[in-house]
Amino acid sequence: MPRSLAEYQRKRDFSKTPEPKGSPEPQGQNRFVVQKHWATRLHYDFRLEMDGVLVSWAIPKGPTLNPAEKRLAAHVEDHPVSYYDFEGTIPKGEYGGGTVMIWDWGTFELEESTPAESRRRGEVKFRLKGVRLCGRYAVVRTRSEKDWLLIKKKDECADPNFNIETFTTSVSGKRPDAEDPRADEGAAGRGPIR
Ligand code: MN
Repeated sequence: MPRSLAEYQRKRDFSKTPEPKGSPEPQGQNRFVVQKHWATRLHYDFRLEMDGVLVSWAIPKGPTLNPAEKRLAAHVEDHPVSYYDFEGTIPKGEYGGGTVMIWDWGTFELEESTPAESRRRGEVKFRLKGVRLCGRYAVVRTRSEKDWLLIKKKDECADPNFNIETFTTSVSGKRPDAEDPRADEGAAGRGPIR
């Protein structure tokens, strides 16, 4: 299935946002990234490198290692592969305005022989090897095209006590102090956030 970055590029003004414009890159390295994104609503963007793009879902509560917690994952537009290590602040008023921090990254292996067909069918199974996430997962489409679930499978990485709040830093090493940038604004005594 040919992928396109047209929607990604249409939504953004690249003279204003520091995000990459990007182009499809067919030589895949099977990477995944989770970007914590303090947009209008805090969420975690989960992206898998497939078919020359980053296939992407926005997860309000973020990923988990707890197999008992299915996480709602809104399928969003494909992102360029060069978004993999994007970290920074999208200006207020621009699409997705707010700070982006790399919460986890690594590689994955599909547990599928025909991934494009599986995705059309609405289920992708894979095994993650990240800094914080690991083991077997699936993303499964619900009755709606847009609403998927991220499900942790029971395996050696599963952790029923997993709490995403305990991991506040970036794994990139570039933003070691990054926590909630909105809290920082308040702490700096700059008054209420507008
Ligand atoms: Mn986002």
